[in-house]
Amino acid sequence: MRIWSIANQKGGVGKTTSVVSLGGLLAERGARVLLIDLDPHGSLTSYFRYDPDSLETSLYDLFFNQRCKDIDYIKKVVKPTSRKGVDLLPATTALATLERQVSGQDGMGLVLAKTLAQLWDDYDYALLDTPPILGVLLVNALAACQRLVIPTQTEHLALKGLERMVHTLKMVMTSQNRQLPYTIVPTLFDRRTQASVITLKEMRELYPEHVWQEAIPIDTKFRDASHDGLFPNELDSLSRGVRAYRHLLAVLDQAEEVKHERRSAQ
Ligand code: ADP
Ligand code: MG
Repeated sequence: MRIWSIANQKGGVGKTTSVVSLGGLLAERGARVLLIDLDPHGSLTSYFRYDPDSLETSLYDLFFNQRCKDIDYIKKVVKPTSRKGVDLLPATTALATLERQVSGQDGMGLVLAKTLAQLWDDYDYALLDTPPILGVLLVNALAACQRLVIPTQTEHLALKGLERMVHTLKMVMTSQNRQLPYTIVPTLFDRRTQASVITLKEMRELYPEHVWQEAIPIDTKFRDASHDGLFPNELDSLSRGVRAYRHLLAVLDQAEEVKHERRSAQ
């Protein structure tokens, strides 16, 4: 299973949109995909018309009573989406209280990794939508995934958020004693504005090896898709935004293959 976290400590940069877009494109190729909502706001959960205030079970419940090792329980928490082959591990607003409840308890950073180990044969990909706060949920995501994707809005203020995210990543990686490859994805790019063009240039100068060569353009179809609860490629498979995400997916997959080949060669 390929497990990718989509994270940035800034809101409104396109995290949830990236998760839904990449998920829809993977389904288009017949992959089995699990989308995971780690954000207490539950935007991803709401996207698929589940209510984070009233769902009976969610990711939250897996943090208690060793349920993350109980495959039958996990399968009851997982919900279908509108598209065959794509499932959702939903969030409920109770996730907001998790930090307080589990702080200081051993093993709480590995709950998601253990959950995914149970589902290893059921999915080809897991995409993790993460909260903007550095806490137990983001730590779980970073511990469980093999790659981090950082959507970053192409406007000057977003660079600070990007810096903070990269710093957080390095800190968590040091404490977990491992390395995690990351890809910065410029989002909400508007080539007609100087601000977008200049910020993109700055981003590339600051993180030359990590910034994806293209950018996700502003495309109103994303908002329409979200309004209708559709995957963007179901609404318009050839829209500018969807085509950009298709390119991104190819690049991310290729990076995984290179990593795999290197490991096999060692
Ligand atoms: P986050 O999860 O980082 O908070 P979202 O994915 O929810 O960000 O995006 C915030 C808002 O911007 C949403 O209304 C979404 O539909 C819209 N949006 C995201 N990406 C794009 C884009 N490339 N073009 C236009 N609107 C976008
Ligand atoms: Mg979001």
